[in-house]
Parts: sequence; C-alpha cells; structure tokens
Amino acid sequence: MKAIISHDIDHISILEHTFKDAIIPKFMARMHIELFAGKISLREYMLRWTDFFKNKWQNIDELITYNNVNNIPSSFFIAVNRGIGLNYSNRAALLWIEQMKSRNCEINLHGIEFENQERINQEFELFKSLTKHENFGVRMHYVRNSEQTYNMLGNAGYMFDSTEHAFKDPYKIGTMWQFPFQIMDGWIIENGKKWQSLNLEKAKEKTIKIIDKAQADNLKYLGIDFHDRYFSHSFKTWLNWYMWLVEYLKANKIEFVNYEMAIKELEKK
Ligand SMILES: [Zn+2]
Repeated sequence: MKAIISHDIDHISILEHTFKDAIIPKFMARMHIELFAGKISLREYMLRWTDFFKNKWQNIDELITYNNVNNIPSSFFIAVNRGIGLNYSNRAALLWIEQMKSRNCEINLHGIEFENQERINQEFELFKSLTKHENFGVRMHYVRNSEQTYNMLGNAGYMFDSTEHAFKDPYKIGTMWQFPFQIMDGWIIENGKKWQSLNLEKAKEKTIKIIDKAQADNLKYLGIDFHDRYFSHSFKTWLNWYMWLVEYLKANKIEFVNYEMAIKELEKK
C-alpha cells in the first residue's frame, strides 16, 4: 500500500470572510468552546488571536517545506469559485497557484459545482485558464456529491476525482479515475462535532484502526486529506496528528505518491 496525501485549501485570509459569511463568529465560538472544554491550551487560544491579527488562515508554504523534508509530494486542491464558507478571490488563489507551481506541487481544483453539467464545465474551464494546466483532478468542497456528480465530472474532462469516501481501490468512470479516500483530518479530530472532540491519543487510535482496515482490505492506495489551515501551532493537536501520521506511515514503510504518479502506475498495468 502507498499513501496519497492531499490538502484542501478552504481559507487564505481572515478578511476574505468579513461580512460575507458566518465563518468568523463560528470560529470565535469554536475556539471558546475548545478552550473551556480543555481541548486546547491557553497558548493555542492566544495563537488563534495572533492568526487573526496577522490575517493569515493558510499555511501552504510551511506545509510544502515539511512535506519536502519528508519526501511527500505536495498535492493541493484549490478553489476558483466561492461556496459554503470558502470566500477567497481568483486573485488570491492565483498568487498561491504560482507559488505552488514554483515549488513543484500537484495542483487540482477544490470544486464547488457538483450538480449541474454546464456549471461544472464552466468551473473546469476557469481552472484550466487560471492554471494553464491541461491535466488535473478535483475534490468537491465538503465532499458534496449527488448521484450524477462523478459522471458529470468525467464528462467535463477531469483526469481524476477524489471526493468519494470508501475503502475501495481507484477505478475508472469513463476516462476519469475515481480515487476514493479514507482519512480526513476533521472526521478524525472533530469526530462528528463542529469543534475538536478527540485528544491526540484518541485521534491516533482512531487513525490506526482505519490504516489497519485499509491494509486488511489490501488497498493499493491510502488516501489522506489534511487541510493546510491546520498545519499550525494554533491547531496543535491537528499539527501533531499530521506529523505523527507521516512518521507512522514512514515507520510502516509506506511510500508517498501523488495522484499523477498513482495514475501512471495504474495505467502501466
Ligand atoms: Zn473544502
């Protein structure tokens, strides 16, 4: 089994949210609940205020550097449309797309459109024109999908999709590969709540169970989604969980690949 780690970019700055959505009040409620429930330390709480004043809600550069040190190819999903709590502009996205290109990252779309073929096609074309890339994949924001989503994504021309949550090997839908994934940071650490509900030890136990199941099912690839936003000391459990997970996979001799590398391997056979 090999691991494919990827990162969804949901936020870039704090100011992109002002008055446009309920993200800031939700963020405030969450950090107070977490502090009073003893899930985060006073230091973490203070660091969240620091992020706020720095207007910084992404950790893309830091994460690429960490991945490089650990031989993990960085693979990102970045959005070109706005939708549920995701509010950054094309201009802001483009600055990061250029940065990710210069650092050899795999760049894919974080999709908003999932139920209308025409709008899915438009989103595909917009991403293509902004990135000037021909081949790329997609993961839907909030992994939203309907019965027809995957067929429509295939029709639009995506090389792959990785929205499905399932213990299955990659498979083809027309010409598009579907890469089901198994681990998402929030599903582990929030565990069904809207704030951190597990501590690091419980999060590790839960993660090991999923990895064991993927091994027992003989999966070719273990799919992991970790949001760059949490690669920060202001989200200490998330940061430590990610670094622990990387070390755990390395200790278990699991190699890291990105989607493009995996597709090449799959198509060779
Ligand atoms: Zn998202």
